[in-house]
Amino acid sequence: MKDTFLTCSSCGIKFLWTVREQELSARAGEPPPGKCPGCRALDFLLTEHEGTVRFYNPRKGWGFIDAPGGRKVFFHRRNLRRPVSRGTVVRFRASMTEKGLRATSVRVIGRRKKEAR
Ligand SMILES: [Zn+2]
Repeated sequence: MKDTFLTCSSCGIKFLWTVREQELSARAGEPPPGKCPGCRALDFLLTEHEGTVRFYNPRKGWGFIDAPGGRKVFFHRRNLRRPVSRGTVVRFRASMTEKGLRATSVRVIGRRKKEAR
């Protein structure tokens, strides 16, 4: 394998698909990305996602959601309508801030079966 240039199906720019990314895609059994990283990031912000709460500190009022694509998304309790804890499955939208991805309008939809009691 070697670094390869692909053309984005959305905006038409050529973007680099690195050996490391190729290895990760191969391991996950995924096809080559059709869109450039910029368009993929934009798509992520435009759609709702399902994720699992990885960590939540109720005293501090913030935590992180494990989201699709290996993303870690920050959330704050003011974006919650119901309490969450580790393993809670949520749907959310994300916005990009100076500090990275941040979840908005987090909705609880259940719990991951593994950690259900
Ligand atoms: Zn693009």
